[in-house]
Amino acid sequence: MTLLEQKRHFDHIIEKVEKARLRVSDHHIVKIVAASKYVDAEAIKSLYDIGQRAFGENKVQDLINKSEQLKDLPIEWHFIGTLQKNKINHLLSVRPHLLHSIDSIELAHALNERLERDEMYLRALVQINSAYEESKSGFFPEEINEKYAQIMQECPRLKLQGVMSIGAHVDDPVLIRKSFETTRRIFETLPQATICSMGMSSDFELAIECGSTMIRLGSILFPK
Ligand SMILES: *Cc1c(COP(=O)(O)O)cnc(C)c1O
Repeated sequence: MTLLEQKRHFDHIIEKVEKARLRVSDHHIVKIVAASKYVDAEAIKSLYDIGQRAFGENKVQDLINKSEQLKDLPIEWHFIGTLQKNKINHLLSVRPHLLHSIDSIELAHALNERLERDEMYLRALVQINSAYEESKSGFFPEEINEKYAQIMQECPRLKLQGVMSIGAHVDDPVLIRKSFETTRRIFETLPQATICSMGMSSDFELAIECGSTMIRLGSILFPK
């Protein structure tokens, strides 16, 4: 794609986001995180050049490589993948803006320990497995309130901002909507939560209508 074509394509997606958010309310703000796992630093740079600032990676090594290559740009880096405990030091070396995927108490404790040692804080979301899918990590809806409170209490170096969820992996929009509504309902009960990260290329408009405040767009932003 030429730069102009890419800009038109991006504007078209922003327009869809805008329409979906206005269906919620004039005051409902949605942030786009570009999931850049499919592309290299050069493609990230060209999306940056047309205005995108937040990018998310799902592998720690990719995050390290790409953020190093683009270190002169004020990009806001997010980590959106499953985090292994043995990668915590590497992740923290990048000083990510937001970790989307705390999926166990053990991971929260391990992060807190490392953050304390390095005298750092980290903004983070707790992942919910709203559709009860075996292939996904995260806490189940009935346990999330208790676990969220436990992490807040026991891991003061983690600045919890809300929740992340991946929509149900099915074709039926009714079921996808149900999983988003479950996430949103839980989000509203959490103390001081401001970020509800849900919605990807195939379901972001539905996610926004269900109250998402942050969408993670990959394939749709970087068409081949
Ligand atoms: C890849 C990825 C996305 C974006 O997926 P697309 O369907 O390509 O938009 C969103 N969230 C997570 C956690 C991802 O790994």
